[in-house]
Amino acid sequence: MRILVSAGPTREALDPVRFLTNRSTGKMGYAIAEAGLDAGHDVTLVTGPVALQPPAGAAVIAVETAQEMFEAVRNEAPAIDVFIMTAAVADLRPANPSRSKLKKRELPRNEAGRVVLELEPTPDILASLPDWRSPRSLTIGFAAETTDHQKHALAKLTEKRCDLILLNDVSRRDIGFGADENEVHLLYPDGRIEPWLRMTKKDVGRKLIQTAETLWNAKAGAL
Ligand code: C5P
Repeated sequence: MRILVSAGPTREALDPVRFLTNRSTGKMGYAIAEAGLDAGHDVTLVTGPVALQPPAGAAVIAVETAQEMFEAVRNEAPAIDVFIMTAAVADLRPANPSRSKLKKRELPRNEAGRVVLELEPTPDILASLPDWRSPRSLTIGFAAETTDHQKHALAKLTEKRCDLILLNDVSRRDIGFGADENEVHLLYPDGRIEPWLRMTKKDVGRKLIQTAETLWNAKAGAL
């Protein structure tokens, strides 16, 4: 299979030295990319800025912003069989990033003297995939939630038209962002929910690649 994995956070510049980002370390995505290569698949890793070494053999596309990640995924999409979107893409970016470093006294303030930052939404890469991907391909999304986990993850499954969503609870320190282990629930479009016991992110990667192989073969056989 030709697999594309999106991984890591994105950075959204406020000026040349400051940016908005999140706590993603890229561990889950890199573990999946490695598992895909180990299983003999072609892997394209579209990665935001992280401190990890990409696995040998992956075609790596390094990006910084949500817009760059969007363009990289769109360019690759027609040739991909399985999309595994683990990236924690920033949902918002400064609407008017400055070309030069902003000076504290120049920042726009409201009547209360508070600095006002205007933000705009970034493109939703996963939700746009149906426009570019082959109908034979498979999309797997991730949902990092802190409250009402299953409700929010199910909404994402439908809204983003995924074949599968992996849900994880990022309010816990022992799993989720930065941790080496993860405890996920798999949510399928038919309402099935499959809990996976806590295991290393490497093992989640291996099991997910096996699951993707089964789903992709079933989808290819049905078309
Ligand atoms: O940010 P959110 O929790 O909605 O992310 C859910 C899924 O959508 C994840 O798989 C994430 O990688 C993907 N996503 C994306 N582009 C965005 C936001 C999220 O591909 N702009």
